[in-house]
Amino acid sequence: MRIPFVAGNWKMNKTVEEARSLVFEMSLSLREIEGVEKVLCPPFPALLAVAALLEGIDIGLGAQNMHWEGKGAFTGEVSPGMVAEFCKYVILGHSERRTFFGETDETVNRKVCAAQAYDLIPIVCVGESLSENQAGQTAKVVGYQLCESLKNLDKDLASRIVIAYEPVWAIGTGLASTGENANSVVVEIIRPALADLFGEENSQAIRVLYGGSVTSTNAAEFFNQPDIDGALVGGASLKTEEFVPIARAASRL
Ligand code: PEP
Repeated sequence: MRIPFVAGNWKMNKTVEEARSLVFEMSLSLREIEGVEKVLCPPFPALLAVAALLEGIDIGLGAQNMHWEGKGAFTGEVSPGMVAEFCKYVILGHSERRTFFGETDETVNRKVCAAQAYDLIPIVCVGESLSENQAGQTAKVVGYQLCESLKNLDKDLASRIVIAYEPVWAIGTGLASTGENANSVVVEIIRPALADLFGEENSQAIRVLYGGSVTSTNAAEFFNQPDIDGALVGGASLKTEEFVPIARAASRL
């Protein structure tokens, strides 16, 4: 009942011209893959150009961040309304934002609430660091992040939230989790937390992705797990020969 979902987080890569070339290159193959929601998340300056290329094509567009306020004196920030002009999705709470830009569960929560208010679908990232993992704190950390980042939301709109479980130690390291391990985090920690927050029925509609060094080689290992609904892909989403097979592997058709 949950449609598989694959999103590419381009991070701070690709100028507008480079973004155009990459979309041009991958969209022909991507658009033909059915049974999976495909989303590209380029940097802000490329959103307009990519939106134009994706018009009328069944590939979604997402931003990588936004502010929670509607407008005002927030130099360098981008508002939810500005994102919503081009995008249906927005990545929020990515571990790089938490680590390098001081984002907290509280600010992530404000952003998620703003996303809901602006009819954007947030892809909310959670995950434990290496030291937290080694200290056996995964359940505590991920449970707390979910509980704090997702409070005060309209429960009836739960299906318009996507969660990405991204263990920090697996992001950009080439050291992916195993399918089995990621699935058990989803089953034992994430799904129960979502049920507490939104109620059993509403929470069942929420897609939960895995992210962290997903490639065309290991993608199927994650997608074959019963409780993983897709992937948030970083590095591999910048290569057509990687991202297209990953999206294909997620399709259940
Ligand atoms: C990410 O940026 O969300 C990510 C998972 O990166 P990578 O796939 O490169 O590990």
